[in-house]
Amino acid sequence: MELEEHYGPSVDLKMQDQRVDIVIEYTDDQGPCPECGAICPKHDDRKKCTWRHLDTMQFSTYLYCEVPRVRCDTHGAKTVAIPWAGKNSRFTLLFEAFAIRVLTAARSVEEARKLLGLNWHQAEAIVWLDEKRQTFAILVLMKSNFAQVIAILAISMIWMVGVCLRWSKSEHRKPVIHS
Ligand SMILES: [Zn+2]
Repeated sequence: MELEEHYGPSVDLKMQDQRVDIVIEYTDDQGPCPECGAICPKHDDRKKCTWRHLDTMQFSTYLYCEVPRVRCDTHGAKTVAIPWAGKNSRFTLLFEAFAIRVLTAARSVEEARKLLGLNWHQAEAIVWLDEKRQTFAILVLMKSNFAQVIAILAISMIWMVGVCLRWSKSEHRKPVIHS
């Protein structure tokens, strides 16, 4: 994963816990406003957030960053858009793309969840994010009139496929609780 010039990563390998922690520092004193793209002075840092990334040599890998806010003259204080993850996601874009492929190929959500090392809430969050992005992409398409019919058909197809997938995998969705 390549980081833009504003960021400086440092890596901490924890052999005992079988994990790799990558702390990313925002090293610039300015940055682009997420609304208008204007370069604005840094305002402050938000609290440190964590993102699950693709495993490194079978070690769970996490990114950490205090994502800064910039002060835009037009839009006020805004958190900068990070290049490695979507807004409000706790997974990197690369991990999400990999997880979607595993979820699609696996025989059940339970199987995919175990392969990915996710709990149920995390697996649901990734499925939900993917559906949201697909819907958004289709809504953008609908802005042009000639594409409206195709877009509506596509939404219907995605919805139907989602319903069928959920239905076919529903018996595997609830975790077994041992008392
Ligand atoms: Zn702005």
